[in-house]
Amino acid sequence: MAGKLRKCMLCCSSKVTREEEDMATDSYEEAIAGLKQLLSEKGDLEPVAAAKIKQITAELEATAAKSFNPVERIKTGFAHFKTEKFEKNGALYGELAKGQSPKFMVFACSDSRVCPSHILDFQPGEAFVVRNIASMVPPYDQTKYSGMGAAIEYAVLHLKVETILVIGHSRCGGIKGLMSIPDDGTTATDFIENWVKICLPARAKVKADYSSLDFAEQCTNCEKEAVNVSLGNLLTYPFVREAVTKKTISIKGGHYDFVKGSFELWCLDYGYTPC
Ligand SMILES: [Zn+2]
Repeated sequence: MAGKLRKCMLCCSSKVTREEEDMATDSYEEAIAGLKQLLSEKGDLEPVAAAKIKQITAELEATAAKSFNPVERIKTGFAHFKTEKFEKNGALYGELAKGQSPKFMVFACSDSRVCPSHILDFQPGEAFVVRNIASMVPPYDQTKYSGMGAAIEYAVLHLKVETILVIGHSRCGGIKGLMSIPDDGTTATDFIENWVKICLPARAKVKADYSSLDFAEQCTNCEKEAVNVSLGNLLTYPFVREAVTKKTISIKGGHYDFVKGSFELWCLDYGYTPC
């Protein structure tokens, strides 16, 4: 579809696009229908051929049942949200249409299992969220990390969030990647390792303090230490530092363990203390 805009399936009903999207499904359905037709006329077929056709039909039906249609998934997901949430909470969405005033800025990992709105039950308008590999906050750097800086600046200076929460999590692939970088620092990926190196101080602390633990336990500790590095990095942003000094903002760390189903919370208060 290079150079050609596609119509949105959620709000448009373009027959051409719809047909394109359904092409794969249709071809299965046509194949199955054709084979069923043959089977219904199998009186004229050799028994072996009829059995073979029956087997192919069953295989095709199983494949069709398993095939995942992303467009259908998106459409049914939005339809569910619209009837169950949007239309049932008219007052909330009416207010949000006027603007947002979230109390929280949240950093969470991009991992599909750790959506903060799910695990902390944030409602629309409650949390301004940044998600990235391993939920890291880089230090203030106007050229290298402008995307992260823009989000923090907007949250602190314009939205005036009251809490910044950085959430690490169990079995984090980004942290495992950080812990797996060779000691000579060589990298094998275009972006991932250079990104997670933001939390090299966490890795160094874990390797020094927990050398007797096995690798998985070291990773668990690093998941939490990386949050602490990020909390420290938040203070490299002058507007965050100022807000913390004035006590208009509080900075908190969290660790979500989806194996145990637990959530640990602590505060940055000139040191790290349980909240
Ligand atoms: Zn992660």
